[in-house]
Amino acid sequence: MENGWTKALEEKDKQIAALERTATDQTECLLHFQARVAELTAEVARWNPCGHTGFESVSCGICGYPDSRKLIKHLRDENERLKILCAELIGPDVKKEIE
Ligand SMILES: [Zn+2]
Repeated sequence: MENGWTKALEEKDKQIAALERTATDQTECLLHFQARVAELTAEVARWNPCGHTGFESVSCGICGYPDSRKLIKHLRDENERLKILCAELIGPDVKKEIE
């Protein structure tokens, strides 16, 4: 038996279902963005392990930033270290191929 109340209740149920779908979409969107922020944070940490802000004026003792000469020397030293590590892990022929 349908009357004005049952129609109003059906309409409210439809509105609640629509709101629940919206909430689910927003939750999925939030989770997606949280995962993306975590990925980008990990990427920043990977390429900026010292956590430099870009405003430092004193050279870092670890990577040499912001002094470009020290930074380049650090990168060259790191490159050499990785070549030696590769040669140790894979074989001495690899070191020649890398150079
Ligand atoms: Zn540093």
